Parts: sequence; structure tokens; C-alpha cells
Amino acid sequence: MDLYEYQAKDLFAAHGVPVLPGKTVETAEDAKAAAAELGTAVVVKAQVKVGGRGKAGGVKLAETPDEAAEKATAILGLDIKGHTVHRVLVTTASDIAEEYYFSFLLDRSNRTFLAMASAEGGMEIEQLAVERPDALARIPIDAIVGVDKAKAVDILTQAKFPAVVIDDAADAVVKLWETFVSEDATLVEVNPLVRDPQDKIIALDGKVTLDDNAEFRHPDHAALVDQRTENALEAKAKAKGLNYVKLDDGQVGIIGNGAGLVMSTLDVVAYAGEKHGGVKPANFLDIGGGASAQVMADGLDVILGDPDVKAVFVNVFGGITACDAVATGIVEALKILGDSATKPLVVRLDGNNVVEGRKILDDANHPLVTQVDTMDNAADKAAELAHAGA
Ligand code: GDP
Ligand code: MN
Repeated sequence: MDLYEYQAKDLFAAHGVPVLPGKTVETAEDAKAAAAELGTAVVVKAQVKVGGRGKAGGVKLAETPDEAAEKATAILGLDIKGHTVHRVLVTTASDIAEEYYFSFLLDRSNRTFLAMASAEGGMEIEQLAVERPDALARIPIDAIVGVDKAKAVDILTQAKFPAVVIDDAADAVVKLWETFVSEDATLVEVNPLVRDPQDKIIALDGKVTLDDNAEFRHPDHAALVDQRTENALEAKAKAKGLNYVKLDDGQVGIIGNGAGLVMSTLDVVAYAGEKHGGVKPANFLDIGGGASAQVMADGLDVILGDPDVKAVFVNVFGGITACDAVATGIVEALKILGDSATKPLVVRLDGNNVVEGRKILDDANHPLVTQVDTMDNAADKAAELAHAGA
């Protein structure tokens, strides 16, 4: 889960990383009040989960509370790279002597953690990495050893931070590492980390990605989920422990078992769709290993709840859960759903106990269910039905 800037900076503050005070608001009136309360010049900042807000007009300085209201009016409702601004952060403005870049991240390809730092901040990091690679220090971090003050000084020295800030910046870096580890983040990024005219170090921006696999260790992180942007069906699936993903512009709902099979199902459906009016996958759901009747019912309920879905493709390879159990699951699921199931289902079963599984579905003879033996032909049938129903 990616966090908003204000959430990232709240976490920074909780771990002792220096940030400036601020308040998140949804109206110009509240922006004015927040600026008055801070009693300083402020920066009004769009809260959207995308970078480059400054260039897109989403970050504006305001000297007075009235000006803060004006700037908030200009920013609220703005579309920044497809993200609508519903909230702004009103935060104390800082004078900036220099801008730096700092991040910790999970370096998957090298199976380690990585610190990236540069004394040349202010630029987008992707651009810096391409145009001035020498200016960006990339230093692997041993997960067991971690980052103490000496290591932090070493990183910042390699990144050519000026001597005058190294001590302060190293304290901030140690605290960023503490944030990274104790919150189970896969990214903490500060761009810009600034030096103010008094040589104090401040995190002016913050980006944090939390590792969803560690959710169980952080009940407090649930409060960080933005209910407004989370898709209602995704929330429903999550509550039932299912992995559901909504896709744009599709008509075929996909249920499969195992990530690999589901991914290749997406491909064959998209391919088959080319012959049927260009229909595409609308969503997908991985029911994993245990396709009990209840799991299948929950899965179908979620997939059928997507109004974009015109036909469903259930593609299951029986393994530990054999095909007969899956078939029974489908039949029972359709009983549980009753009249709320209205869209055609194409089912392809293969693998363990396939003969028994197909027989169960044949015997049930449900009007919505079509069985097809091969994955390609089943994808074709699902695409055809989705096109006919669209
Ligand atoms: P981003 O464009 O989405 O990365 O948003 P940032 O929070 O990084 O802000 C963009 C730029 O606005 C920063 O690089 C700064 O140059 C500037 N900025 C942000 N906050 C302040 C501030 O408090 N004072 C000043 N003078 N500039 C700021
Ligand atoms: Mn930034």
C-alpha cells in the first residue's frame, strides 16, 4: 500500500524524522483556518498518490490565510495524472538553502535493501538516475546489520552531502531506517530532503510504501487505507480473504487457481477477445488452493458484482483440491447465489479427478454453465458470450 505524503510524514514524525507541522483539509475554508492556526506562511499541497505534483500545479506557496484559501481552491478538484485531488496538506513553508534526495528501498533484483542518496535533489529521481548517474549513490544495506550512525555518515559522504549537514542528516537517515524496518516498508523516500538557511535538515516531502504481507503485524496500518479510493468490490474480496483485481475496460470475469494460471488466462482471454468485438478481461480472482463451495461462492459473488462483467470464465487446474471438489463448489455456489447469479459461466476443468469433476457439472445441468475442455476453446467461448451479452 502506498501512503499519501501526509501519512508518510506522520510516520516520519512518529519515528523522529524532522518534518514541519501541517494539517490535511478538504475545503478552502478549512485551509484558511489551518493556515491561521499555523501562523506562518504555508505551502498548500495536493494529496494524491503520484509524483510530480509541483510541476502539475499541485504545490503552491501562500503567505496569508486568505491566500491559502485561494490556493486550496485552485488545487482541490485538480486532476493530476488521472488522480483527482480531494484533500490538501497545509504545512508551514520553509526557506530552502539546498535540496537533497534520500531513500531506502527493497532491491528485489539484488535480494537486498538499498540506500539511494544524492546531494543533487529537486530533480525527479528517474531523470537524475539517467542524466547524472554519478550523482546518485546506491549503497546496499545488510538487513541484519542495518543502518547505524556510522553507516549513515558513510552513505551521505559517498553521496557527497556537504560536511555542514552530514551530522544532522545522518541522524535523520538512522530514523528513516527505523521507520523502514519497524513499519515493514518496502520504500521510504524523501525528495526533497532540505537544508534550511539555519542548516537544519527537514523532510519536505515523503513517500512510503508499506508491505501488505506484513499487515498482520500492524493493526494500526488499517487506519491508513483510503476508503474513498478503494474499490468496493476489492474491499469485499479482501474482507473474505480473496485476491481480487479490477481491470479497466473489460467484460470477462476471470476466476482461477494459482497466480500463474490466472495470468495466462488473462492472456488467452485477451487474445480470444480480438475475434469477438475486442472484449477483454474485466477483473480476475485467484481462489488459491482451497476451492471449497464457500470460497467459490464468495469468489463468484465478487466477480458477478462487477457490472462490467458480461460472462465469467472459471479456469481451474485440479491439484491438491481436485476437480470434483471444485465442481461441487461451483454447483453449491450457484445454489447459494440463487437468482443473484445471472451471467453465463464458462468452466474449464483439468487435472486431478477431472472426469469426476466434469460429470458433476454435467449432472447438475445448470442453465448458466457451459463446460469446455481446453483453455483456448473455453476462453473463446467466454469471449463470445461476453460479446453477445455486452
Ligand atoms: P512533488 O512535486 O510531488 O514531489 O512534491 P514536493 O513535495 O516534492 O514539492 C515540490 C517542490 O515544491 C519541492 O521540490 C520544493 O522545491 C517545493 N516546496 C515544497 N515545499 C516547500 C516549502 O515548504 N518551501 C519552499 N520554498 N518550497 C517548497
Ligand atoms: Mn517530491
